[in-house]
Amino acid sequence: MTTTKKWTPITWHCMNCGSKVTGSKSTDGDIRGECSKCKTVMIRKHKSRRHSTVEIYKSEISLPC
Ligand SMILES: [Zn+2]
Repeated sequence: MTTTKKWTPITWHCMNCGSKVTGSKSTDGDIRGECSKCKTVMIRKHKSRRHSTVEIYKSEISLPC
């Protein structure tokens, strides 16, 4: 048994710009990935069967000056 998480590749659409994002899904149900276009980082954390949270980290280039 290894303690390291297994990550499988997964693709979805960016919540910020809508372009295709390639990320990875762990065996826990957590998903993380970074948009190659707008650099937004999205992390979905699995809490329970009916509850998951999504954290979105917007890149500095998308912030207004
Ligand atoms: Zn994006």
